Amino acid sequence: MRNVLISGASIAGPALAYWLRRKGFSVTVVERAPGQRKGRQAVDIRGVALEVMDRMGLGEHVRAARTRMRGMSMVDDEGNELFRSEEQAFSSGRLGGEDVELLREDLTAMLYEVTKDQVEYVFHDSISALEQDEHGVRVEFDHGGFRTFDFVIGADGAHSAVRRLAFGPEQQFSKHLGQYLAIFPAANFLGLNNWQFWFHDEESGTGGAIYPVRDNAELRVTLGFLSEPVTYDHRDVSQQKQIVTDRLAGLGWEVPKLLAAMADAPDFHFDAMAQIHMDRWTTGLVRAGRRRRLLRLGAVRAGHQPGPGRRLRARRGTEPVRRRSRRRVRRLRAADAPVRRPQPGAGHREPRWPRVRGVGGPRQERHLTGHRRDRQRMSRRRS
Ligand SMILES: Cc1cc2nc3c(=O)[nH]c(=O)nc-3n(C[C@H](O)[C@H](O)[C@H](O)COP(=O)(O)OP(=O)(O)OC[C@H]3O[C@@H](n4cnc5c(N)ncnc54)[C@H](O)[C@@H]3O)c2cc1C
Repeated sequence: MRNVLISGASIAGPALAYWLRRKGFSVTVVERAPGQRKGRQAVDIRGVALEVMDRMGLGEHVRAARTRMRGMSMVDDEGNELFRSEEQAFSSGRLGGEDVELLREDLTAMLYEVTKDQVEYVFHDSISALEQDEHGVRVEFDHGGFRTFDFVIGADGAHSAVRRLAFGPEQQFSKHLGQYLAIFPAANFLGLNNWQFWFHDEESGTGGAIYPVRDNAELRVTLGFLSEPVTYDHRDVSQQKQIVTDRLAGLGWEVPKLLAAMADAPDFHFDAMAQIHMDRWTTGLVRAGRRRRLLRLGAVRAGHQPGPGRRLRARRGTEPVRRRSRRRVRRLRAADAPVRRPQPGAGHREPRWPRVRGVGGPRQERHLTGHRRDRQRMSRRRS
């Protein structure tokens, strides 16, 4: 059974683990936090994602856990209501439809629950190095030890370690969107009853959102400000809280109370809003041996590349096959093209080659056999 390592046990990691397991892979998920992360924001499940939940047997559970917002008010920094709606809420969009908004922690707990018996979870650890040898991707972990996997997949968020190790420093890919956000829980001192408040101060470029969760027992507060990139210590929560306090100081309405609640909040998350732009979501090179293709990570860029297919020559005899394989290896090397792997259980002669994609890859690619795809490329070139 081929084995896969997924980094990150939030939403994408366990969801992917579920489907890979069902497709016959042995799956390990490594998560840096000591357990699944609690707190933070609500997330939305819409459209096809709802069908995915249904197919995973989680549809009923996510619908039961949905937030029950009745509407929202937008206020200025003195608390004057500028806008009100009972048809939509900023965090969840249109109310009363099929879409489900629920807390991220509830969704991740469900995804963990549905996978935990079949997937190996390793908490409180992280990948520190990736290197491929002829047996697969050799992974070194922060807390010591090496293991080898057929695939490694990054589902470890905006500051992905897998991306950094396999593709290069984050700065190459991260586009700052000009805004910082902090999110933390607070007691429902505003007495909100399934109602959201949003505030915005044009002049200072600051704003925030407040909504009640857990049957109105608790608030989740988001505070933000517009800014060019700010330098700060990512591990120093006190410093981050101070940055937010400085930016929002002087605002009226309930903001001073929200800042006081932030100072005491045990769970606090602060980050820039950013987009990751990558022209490809896989890195690697084909090793044509046994028609197996190995996802190469990290080592490719270090120029450590095993030669093509000694085993292929030993196992698969004919010269035309060898020539075709060598041509494909050269072509793919030249293009440093995305790697494709056969699906588990695929036939020997006509394996299907699903596109190996990083989570959130840019588009779905048609599944073509290697030879069909080559023929298509050739005929495109001819025409
Ligand atoms: C303030 C805010 C508001 C948002 N509001 C909404 C909303 O209203 N609706 C919505 O749909 N979405 C919203 N989102 C986005 C949503 O939270 C993300 O799309 C979603 O969490 C992405 O899930 P993920 O599994 O890809 O990554 P993440 O949830 O980012 O999880 C990444 C996981 O990887 C782990 N990890 C990180 N580094 C390592 C490492 N080196 N090794 C191992 N593990 C690691 C982390 O601990 C974490 O568990 C919001 C996000 C923020 C920050």
